[in-house]
Amino acid sequence: MESFSYSISHDLKNPIASIKTYAQLLLREKQLEGRGQLMLQRIADRADQMNLMINAVLNYSKIGKIKMNAIRIKMDNILRVIVDDLLIVHHHHAPNVTIDVTHDLYGDEVMLHQIFSNLISNAVKYSQKSIPPKVSISSMIENNEVIYSISDNGLGIAKTDQERIFELFNRMDNVQDIEGSGVGLAIVKRIIEKHKGRIWVKSELGQGSAFYVALPEPQVLH
Ligand code: ADP
Repeated sequence: MESFSYSISHDLKNPIASIKTYAQLLLREKQLEGRGQLMLQRIADRADQMNLMINAVLNYSKIGKIKMNAIRIKMDNILRVIVDDLLIVHHHHAPNVTIDVTHDLYGDEVMLHQIFSNLISNAVKYSQKSIPPKVSISSMIENNEVIYSISDNGLGIAKTDQERIFELFNRMDNVQDIEGSGVGLAIVKRIIEKHKGRIWVKSELGQGSAFYVALPEPQVLH
């Protein structure tokens, strides 16, 4: 699957780059009317979008191959950095983010950062316009697993969609006006599985969501 998607993506990149270039060249034609301009701009925009999707497939397929540098990680530091970055981005209407218990995890630091950065930024991104965003992060130990929860009071996910959100490029109907590519959670799931862990979600539409990440407890592994 990895080598297949890698070569497919590479072979797709050239023709898409050509589409983009020809669309841009045509856009410079003086005699082109407004409607024609608009259509050409759409062609160029869709070529960009396709390029982004191909890069996403490349990143997704690379996860399997990347060598992990697994160590015991103090999650406190990682989570603080992620939340501080987020607060800088959202300084106009700062979300209320609380970090409670943070058990250590065993894994690749860059990859763990990627998991939590995705989940926490989604928790803020998919907030309701009518109420201030609130996000709580905590962890507990159960049956030799460290289980992290990231809960929000945001838009929520319909029951029938809850499995689909972890598939590549899937975005739900209730988030149409919020930008995204539908790639983050697919990558998060793949990274977690590479760490022999699990991810699941509990959510009510219009009420909020809680994402759970369970990874083997560091003590058990050593
Ligand atoms: P993106 O955010 O780029 O759309 P993701 O893979 O991170 O991609 O998420 C996939 C979809 O899952 C989102 O488009 C949204 O429909 C849903 N989703 C993810 N996180 C949340 C959340 N915290 N609250 C509500 N919906 C969410």
